[in-house]
Amino acid sequence: MPFRSDVIESIGNTPLIKLRRASEITGCTILGKAEFMNPGQSVKDRAGKQMILEAEKRGELKPGGLVVESTAGNTGIGLALVASARGYRTIIVIPETQSQEKKDMLRLCGAELVEVPALPYANPNNYQHVGKRLADELRKTDKAGVIFADQWNNLDNRKAHYVSTGPEIWDQTQGKVDGFVCSVGTGGTLAGTSAFLREKNKDIAIGCADPHGAAMYDFFKTGTPKVSPGGSVTEGIGLARVTNIVEDVKVSHPYLIPDEEALPIVFDLLEHEGICVGGSSGVNVAGAIRLARDLGPGKTIVTILCDHGSRYQSKLFNKDFLESKKLPVPDFLKKPAPKLH
Ligand code: PMP
Repeated sequence: MPFRSDVIESIGNTPLIKLRRASEITGCTILGKAEFMNPGQSVKDRAGKQMILEAEKRGELKPGGLVVESTAGNTGIGLALVASARGYRTIIVIPETQSQEKKDMLRLCGAELVEVPALPYANPNNYQHVGKRLADELRKTDKAGVIFADQWNNLDNRKAHYVSTGPEIWDQTQGKVDGFVCSVGTGGTLAGTSAFLREKNKDIAIGCADPHGAAMYDFFKTGTPKVSPGGSVTEGIGLARVTNIVEDVKVSHPYLIPDEEALPIVFDLLEHEGICVGGSSGVNVAGAIRLARDLGPGKTIVTILCDHGSRYQSKLFNKDFLESKKLPVPDFLKKPAPKLH
């Protein structure tokens, strides 16, 4: 058909773009899956679509139903778009520290926002627990069906990548892919994509690029999760506990990526390749460069360009923010704004 029947059909089938400079410095072909080109501008549109369509199939949502979710933002945007297209409402519980742009976008997409303080998972008022309690409460009175999408435990999140991201990468590389690497928020992308690719090529190298302050690097290296020291200004990644989505993932190459390594890559992609992405994509490309160096020249390595950089203008692309975090400021952000005539 020459057109897509609705916005949901235009989720996925994103281009795979050769990252010129990362490829040049490693002698490998490093490819980025351009997830920022999804309708909601992130990889999480895929999870939003799968979780809602599967809930529908199970009869959990009826017209006018309600989707509740706890999210750092991107999953909420994906869910809200899909929910609008299917006639559902959305309530999103979000830590107040997430970027203003994501919150504005969520409201624009019709979601009702519940902002809560950013607290560790062990605290009963952490946003993930608040979301679940809210859904349980609303379910008592709402007749059209209330689901708690629950991306951390919902295996439909992982399935989204097993049925779409993995097969797309396999087709787009014509099966010539030596390594896949990405970071972990819920782990849906890493788990689903790597499971599919490993079924096709049992020798494929699977890398995990973990930011500081998360526990996946140690978990994949030693089998025991241990939160690494320090923190990260990246958003949407950094899992500190083992969930049913990540527990079976086989990672051959775990990497711990500091922001000082990831952010210059984000700036470089924008300045020299016209690719505008957020911080987690920098962590991913840094992981791809490390994997390329470990595997040696001539290999093809795929990673994920998770979301669009416009979502972080007030943070990553803001000189004052970077200085306040003692992070390097790229030259192009130091220049004064051009004068209008
Ligand atoms: N990057 C960004 C910007 C995200 O929002 C997310 C999802 N929270 C991820 C990466 C990681 O995706 P996943 O949940 O599939 O691990």
